[in-house]
Amino acid sequence: MSITRRQFAQTLAAVAAAPLHAQTPDPWAGASIVDCHHHLRRTPEANIAHLDGAGISNAMILARADSAEAIAAIRSKYPGRVLGWFSSTDITKPEAAELLTKAVKSGAIGLGEIKFHVEAAGPELRRMYALAAELNVPILIHFQEVPHTPTEGVFSTGFKNFAAILKAYPKTKFIGHADAFWANISADYNNEAAYPTGKIKPGGITDKFLSDYPNLYGDLAANSGNNALSRDPEFTPGFLQRHQDKLIFGSDCSCADGHGGGISQNNNPTASRMSGRCVARETLGLLKRTVSPEVFRKLTWENAHKQYALKA
Ligand SMILES: [Zn+2]
Ligand SMILES: [Zn+2]
Repeated sequence: MSITRRQFAQTLAAVAAAPLHAQTPDPWAGASIVDCHHHLRRTPEANIAHLDGAGISNAMILARADSAEAIAAIRSKYPGRVLGWFSSTDITKPEAAELLTKAVKSGAIGLGEIKFHVEAAGPELRRMYALAAELNVPILIHFQEVPHTPTEGVFSTGFKNFAAILKAYPKTKFIGHADAFWANISADYNNEAAYPTGKIKPGGITDKFLSDYPNLYGDLAANSGNNALSRDPEFTPGFLQRHQDKLIFGSDCSCADGHGGGISQNNNPTASRMSGRCVARETLGLLKRTVSPEVFRKLTWENAHKQYALKA
């Protein structure tokens, strides 16, 4: 069969368009990996473009409470790629519990990402902790004590005192995420910076809470998670080893192509170390270099399957 001029031109175009990175396989290539902190994107294609670009097989999507249809659309167009979704809504509104309950009834398997300007021990979040237990789904919380911009504000504040909540809601499965959760990996943290750097002082409350409370898990996503695991290479292997059954991979990456293209990190100026990079790739590479293949599989696949009711 002879090749037509048109086919030949297409082949040339494909070769020219093939990116350089396609030539070296990712260290995690071929593995089943679920990104448990994948925010719903505008179109089914945009969701899959990030997964494919970063070499990730599956997503657990974080979306608004009314997203059942959008999730169904991705599932029908790309069968098998979406293993579940968590739903969120403004928890300061009186109808929050009703909307979230409805989302769970329509298929959501968790509450999150819960990120609002309230106290971690305040009434709005307490209602959500109780609701998560009642619905028997996990709740993913964004803890942040230091604003990234003058107008951003703070979220779920008071993580230092979170032990009281973990004790008060033993039937709630908490997934900790974001700046304050990860900054408190070091015992010397006092809410000075969003993303502290340098050596970690052992005995941080995040490390302790993960050891002491069976109902707390950690989401490895975002610059916060990557920064905490990058800042002290001597500390990281022990931490991942200790909590190998309680940490769950996610990216929280906002790049377009799984290679750092587009606007990575939603223009967060304090996370500039990640600009032009894909957080998913950075964290997968870090985990791959740091832990055994068995632990890598727990962090990127098995723990999520055990803790979330994942299904395609
Ligand atoms: Zn977040
Ligand atoms: Zn990315």
